[in-house]
Formats: sequence, structure tokens, C-alpha cells
Amino acid sequence: MADTILMDAGGVLFNNVTEETDFLDRLAARHGADTQRLRGEIDARDAAYETGRAHVHDVLRDALAAAGAPAGVAVDARWLDDLYRDCLAVHPGAFTAIDGIRRHRPDILLVLTNNEAAHWDRVKDDRYGHLGRFDVIASSWQVGEVKPTGEFFEAVARRCGRPLDDAVLLDDNPDVLAEARHHGLRTLHVESPATLPEAVARLLDFPATAADTKGRT
Ligand SMILES: [Mg+2]
Repeated sequence: MADTILMDAGGVLFNNVTEETDFLDRLAARHGADTQRLRGEIDARDAAYETGRAHVHDVLRDALAAAGAPAGVAVDARWLDDLYRDCLAVHPGAFTAIDGIRRHRPDILLVLTNNEAAHWDRVKDDRYGHLGRFDVIASSWQVGEVKPTGEFFEAVARRCGRPLDDAVLLDDNPDVLAEARHHGLRTLHVESPATLPEAVARLLDFPATAADTKGRT
């Protein structure tokens, strides 16, 4: 029986901004960089902001400079945050699933386990208030490790104050799920956030009522 739910955000609560939108195209175009090179340069650096060692704005500026932008390129913080908000989309079904868990299984420890920059988490929280939905914030910037390493899950367990023996990871990334299983976790592949209310009802063995499946944020 599960006692802990570890929930991803990108692809679950929200869209994957850099993978699913024109965020990088617009960022590259404004600063005279090449989108494909920019993607590669960010991939090489993203652990710096995901672990909280650097601000995401600074990392993106460095990646732009390495991807063809003029030397000394400056990035306007307000413009960048507006672009991020413009590309961000919410998945109401995932919020509905959280409501269902709270209604039927108030004993479950709900834990946010997202690879994210602290700044982007704050931008999203200002609009959608997702951080307050969780008992524990164990995202990468909070625990200083990146999912799905063994060190990440050990840090999550410490932050939760309990072992993850009866935890289930909800995530949209099959590679992350496979690695999590390698570390002994149970997993649920979130293929469609819209059907997550029914999926968590099956997982936690409670009946999904109309209130549990009605989409809302
Ligand atoms: Mg994800």
C-alpha cells in the first residue's frame, strides 16, 4: 500500500516549456543565437540551475553566448519571465488528481519531485499556487541533486523524513521511470495528465467520483 506520492511537474502539472513550446526559438531569435545550438548548450548546463547553484537567467545568458549570440549579450529579466509565462500551460487534470488524493487518502504524503530552477518554480507558483499543494517540496533546486540519480532519491527520502519503500513516482519521462525502478521505487507513467484522476484512483484503490474527475485548477 502506497504511503507517499512523488510527483513530477513538467509534463504532469504543467507542460514541458523548453521541449514542447517555441520558448527556445523565441529566446534564440531575440538574442541572435541558433536554437539547436542553444538547446545543446542548455543541456550541458541545466544541472547548475536545477541544483540551485546558479540562477536560471545567468545560465541562459551563458548558453546564448555559447550558441552564437554576440559577446556580452544581455538578457532582460522581465522579458524572459514574460516569455516563460507566455509559453507555460497548466494541466488541470493533475491538480484534480491531487484534490482526489487529499479527499480519499489524507494520510498520503504528497511530495513534489521536479527537476526545476527555483526561479521558474516561483514564477509558476505565483500564477498557479502549486507549491502549497504539497506536503514536501523535494525538487532538484531544494535537495541539490537531479532526478533520477540514486543521490536524488536518497536526498528526497531525507527531506521526507521517511524511507521511500512505499512511495510511487508519478512522472511523464519513461527514462526517469526506468531509472527510478532501478533504484527500487514503484512508478506510474503519466502519459496523459487529463486521465490522471482515474489513474491515481486505481493506484490508491479508491472510487473515482464525479468530483474526483471534474477538471479544474
Ligand atoms: Mg517531466
